[in-house]
Amino acid sequence: MDEIKRRLAAAQKATGDAGLEALLVAPGADLRYLTGYQALPLERLTCLVLPAEGDPFLVVPLLEQAAAQASPAGALDIEITGFGETDDAYELIARRLPPRTRRFAVDNHMWAEKLLAFQAALPDAQAGLAGDVLLELRMRKSPQEVEALRRAAAAIDRVHRRIGEWLIPGRTEAEVAKDIADGILAAGHTTVDFVIVGSGPNGASPHHEVSDRVIRSGDPVVVDIGGTTPDGYCSDSTRTYAVGEPPAAFRELYEVLLRAQTAQTEAVRPGLTAEELDAVGRDIITGAGYGEHFIHRTGHGIGMETHEEPYIVAGSARPLEPGMAFSVEPGIYLPGRFGARIEDIAVCTETGGERLNLTGRDLVVLPG
Ligand code: ZN
Ligand code: ZN
Repeated sequence: MDEIKRRLAAAQKATGDAGLEALLVAPGADLRYLTGYQALPLERLTCLVLPAEGDPFLVVPLLEQAAAQASPAGALDIEITGFGETDDAYELIARRLPPRTRRFAVDNHMWAEKLLAFQAALPDAQAGLAGDVLLELRMRKSPQEVEALRRAAAAIDRVHRRIGEWLIPGRTEAEVAKDIADGILAAGHTTVDFVIVGSGPNGASPHHEVSDRVIRSGDPVVVDIGGTTPDGYCSDSTRTYAVGEPPAAFRELYEVLLRAQTAQTEAVRPGLTAEELDAVGRDIITGAGYGEHFIHRTGHGIGMETHEEPYIVAGSARPLEPGMAFSVEPGIYLPGRFGARIEDIAVCTETGGERLNLTGRDLVVLPG
């Protein structure tokens, strides 16, 4: 609870520093980060109002008031106001903002219809994105958050250790994925966020998800999986398996990828920029002749959302800082043939980096 109070206070200060009069935060990761309340995203408005000065308050539909009160937000000692079915919640909030409010910001995922309603209720004010303010807080994880990410990583590692039970020639990707999804829940996640099982040529499409393709002996298979744990933190890890002995060309490609991903996870340290970390792996892959087949950035930040700041990408001069958590997931994709990706979550520490996913990275050849 102290941690959430610290976040609210920091966000309030950042709001003032950004020259905003208030942040308006609807259900989603930002609301959960700031209040602990995992609110239902409904057509009715639920909104945290965080003024730069004065007390924050939560506006919820009357029928959600008990749920909001029972959530961690109820213990925060902030006002939770319910509105009735015929009340105008936008007007209600506009009236309570500081007089002559000129600039407010909404969370980046607020539904467009809600933003438009706020703009109509505040015709003289300019709207911006709260993400610009909140990303500075959310991308630097506290020790408690790093611990939560460690637990999430351990949970998805448990699923990867069981892949051999399900990834068997003769089964379809969809059948394997169904078992993996059950395994993700059994390992301690509350939701399955994604399951990618890309076998053979399907592995060359980074976000393939699944199909009815039957897995055959000799197939390399990209398995990229993640979920959300009960405390709201996300897991995300990729391993590429071979079902039976894969083609020699695949082994060659995998060795290059493993070298790149290992070098990148070992390179993590404060002060290195996001683009420098991206280049560490890209240079190795390019040097081996696969440069044109590494078609995405190296990674993304992770926390209460699977994809958040900081992005590990060319063009980002953002220096890594202690507490930043992100994926390191280079991949090599040969269209029509096969692909491979290795993905771990890493955290930047005071002295270097910590890898949170701890399953082996050598190619696992399952019985084919
Ligand atoms: Zn992934
Ligand atoms: Zn990822």
